[in-house]
Amino acid sequence: MSIPIYVTQPVLPELKEFIPYLEQIWEKNILTNGGPLHQQLEQELCDYLGVDYISLFNNGTIALITALQALSLKKGEVITTPYTFLATAHAIVWNNLTPVFVDIDPITSNIDPKKVEQAITDATVAILPVHCYGIPCDVEALQALATKHKLKLVYDTAHAFGVDYHSQSLLNYGDLSTISFHATKVFSTFEGGAIVCHSADMKQRIDQLKNFGIVDETTVNDISLNGKLSEVHAALGLLQLKTIDQTLQARAQVDHCYRELLAGVEGIRCIERSGIEKDNYAYFPIVISEPYPLSRDELFEKLKQHNIFARKYFYPLMTELSVYEQYQSDTPNAKLLSGQVLCLPMYPTLSIDQIQRITQLITDKD
Ligand SMILES: *Cc1c(COP(=O)(O)O)cnc(C)c1O
Repeated sequence: MSIPIYVTQPVLPELKEFIPYLEQIWEKNILTNGGPLHQQLEQELCDYLGVDYISLFNNGTIALITALQALSLKKGEVITTPYTFLATAHAIVWNNLTPVFVDIDPITSNIDPKKVEQAITDATVAILPVHCYGIPCDVEALQALATKHKLKLVYDTAHAFGVDYHSQSLLNYGDLSTISFHATKVFSTFEGGAIVCHSADMKQRIDQLKNFGIVDETTVNDISLNGKLSEVHAALGLLQLKTIDQTLQARAQVDHCYRELLAGVEGIRCIERSGIEKDNYAYFPIVISEPYPLSRDELFEKLKQHNIFARKYFYPLMTELSVYEQYQSDTPNAKLLSGQVLCLPMYPTLSIDQIQRITQLITDKD
């Protein structure tokens, strides 16, 4: 049996490059609480991404929870997509807010601004869209809605590290954007995440929120979490940043190779990533429908039998989970896509031979 290929695989720098950072941590004896490596990573990320303020977190979920808390929303509804990872919806509920799931555009897989508008009520306080697969949402339409209805706009940008859209970082859109640096993401600090904001005041508030709400030795302004990123995690981020452009280039190669080999296969649609000035090629989702001879689940099983582990991102939908039973809504486009999508292995070290092995199985009609 050939060696297994998983949907993703982390890329680490050489261990010997990491050792000097560890020596520095041991020498300074500062382990966390906004230490020197943490500060350096915040600065280098601002420069690399082209954003003004970034606050690092221990993961993307705590960043999301804190972003919603930072906006001091009154009790109410937050409009979001059911076609996402659990963290998006969980963050809403952790803030005692009510998720309202609206449908997506079947081509881009992102939330449909027209459906968002229809879902706005007097109880709506915010919109929380996801740039699914790193593909930009219709940011202009969403901002227009947020402005018109005086709603906060927070983007879950977990998939979109390094994406530029309409001449700037995608992270600059909305009131706040959150990122994930989980091991499965394009840029990783083992675990980690961040919030991007637009003012020094907001950055200070977020920094307090990620540190239990502590303002000074005797003042605590909020009941919040510990969301701090350690020095060891920050060190990996600094190293990963040195090679991020090569990483993105290698991902682009994989993306182009798949598209070429799957072009013209009837019933297989590779989700388009057009119009993105700087792309990160975070995922490679394909949509399987007739006249392709196999269903999504059958193709998934076939690949698995050949030791290739694709993933059904995003299935099931949030609205189909029993824990979200009370937040039901009808989202036919999301439901259809969720039943037809398969994310193929996508990581920078995936070789052309491996890509051919995968696409050969997809194009073989048995
Ligand atoms: C990965 C992910 C998150 C959160 O990430 P963690 O860093 O693992 O907590 C949030 N939203 C989406 C859409 C994600 O894919």
